[in-house]
Amino acid sequence: MALTLYNTLGRKLETFRPLEQGRVGLYGCGPTVYSDAHIGNLRPYVVHDILGRTLRRRGYELLHVMNITDVGHLSGDNDEGEDKMVKSAAQRGESVLEVADLYTRAFFRDTERMNIRRPGVVCKATEHIPEMIDLIKRIEARGFSYEAGGNLYFDIAKFPRYGDLRLPGGDSRSPGGDLGLGQNRTGLDKNKRNPQDFALWFTKSKFENQALVWDSPWGRGYPGWHIECSAMSIKYLGEQFDIHAGGVDHVPIHHTNEIAQSEAATGKHPWVRYWLHNEFLVMDKGKMSKSSGGFITLQSLIDEGWEALDYRYLLLSGHYRSQLQFSREALEGARNARKALGDRVRALAAASAALEGPDAPPGGRRSPPDGLRASARVAAFDAALDEDLSTPKALAELWGLVRDKGVNPQAALRGALDMDTVLGLGLAEEAAEAMGLPMADPGFDREIEGVIAERAAAKQAGDYARADALREALKDRGVVLEDGKAGTVWRRS
Ligand code: AMP
Ligand code: ZN
Repeated sequence: MALTLYNTLGRKLETFRPLEQGRVGLYGCGPTVYSDAHIGNLRPYVVHDILGRTLRRRGYELLHVMNITDVGHLSGDNDEGEDKMVKSAAQRGESVLEVADLYTRAFFRDTERMNIRRPGVVCKATEHIPEMIDLIKRIEARGFSYEAGGNLYFDIAKFPRYGDLRLPGGDSRSPGGDLGLGQNRTGLDKNKRNPQDFALWFTKSKFENQALVWDSPWGRGYPGWHIECSAMSIKYLGEQFDIHAGGVDHVPIHHTNEIAQSEAATGKHPWVRYWLHNEFLVMDKGKMSKSSGGFITLQSLIDEGWEALDYRYLLLSGHYRSQLQFSREALEGARNARKALGDRVRALAAASAALEGPDAPPGGRRSPPDGLRASARVAAFDAALDEDLSTPKALAELWGLVRDKGVNPQAALRGALDMDTVLGLGLAEEAAEAMGLPMADPGFDREIEGVIAERAAAKQAGDYARADALREALKDRGVVLEDGKAGTVWRRS
């Protein structure tokens, strides 16, 4: 079976076919680093992680790019409200870059604890201002922008496909957001010809205190929020690429605007072939959001005694396109299930060790024929992921395997660990502990993965000298890199 994904562009399930055989470019919108992420914010990154791991498992070479928004994101996605970074910096009495650094580190601490693999390229908006200016120049040269009140705006009237990206059904989140429905017009930017036009570059606005400003052809100022994702994805993935992902809230404004400005600049359509959107994590009171305050962080759950992977399990138990209701009871259910799963894997590991142990006859105690049954279960697991990344079904296949009395412990263990290369629930660590094997040092592993990601970024940027230097540095530490079809893997020399 082939991987099928729900494409918001066209609103239907489609068989995934990459632009270039064997290679996939994936861009996922990253965090705005003005505060800690709440647990809802972590949902998209788990989804992107599952997608990335699934693609690698299918043998694709994956380049996964994620931005870090450290400039230009206002509290309203439609150029309204205050600048999130500036506001947070003023509240903390620190500089914007200090705040960005603090929360970027906090974000990666959270994602690492949730076994979310770091994307190959992580790029900061503030480090890509020249690329944004270049892209805006192209948009301007092709006649899609206008200057008003000192700012440069995208003119959506020039782009007939504006709003092609839409949610199914009669969702109120229309293209351009609520403004598209003629609501919420208070505080509207009077410079705009159309309320859905959006800023490409600000020089004059209500933010006289903007902390970070750059010279540009339109004056000293700073970029609108949307342009960063277009500029950075095009830089690392090309003018057309495979998959763009993010939260469902990005459909009506952020991603709609990204498409308009990217296709206006390059003249190529479609800019992105598959758009993937995850639904929200919701609480009794409605969607969890940073701005409404009172949100739950991963750290606060850990302080309550939960483990980060309990939350990962909870997320995997729902389909990414369905809203997921968060409650302590639901988390408790996930914790119990994960513990039971860990116990099963430990039991399988102990039983496998006994079969291969010193008392076993040469060649092991038996060579059972039931490995085929385990393979069939792994195939069903893969088929579940092929169905638009159905992690609930995939989890059910994992459970089916570890409970299957007709499968011998070695085959069951192998199958479970194989499935966990996608699910990322830490089952290999459970098994290693049960077998008395030395535990992999997760800190070391993460560090190596970080260097591999850095090397991928260096190669992508054409800096082969740095890429080679990073490879050599790892060699000195006894780590050998092997570049293959499914990306770079490492082993100890
Ligand atoms: P931000 O850091 O505010 O730019 O948001 C990071 C990501 O979190 C975006 O992709 C949002 O779509 C997503 N997001 C925000 N709130 C939620 C939520 N309650 N559930 C799931 N995803 C969310
Ligand atoms: Zn984005």
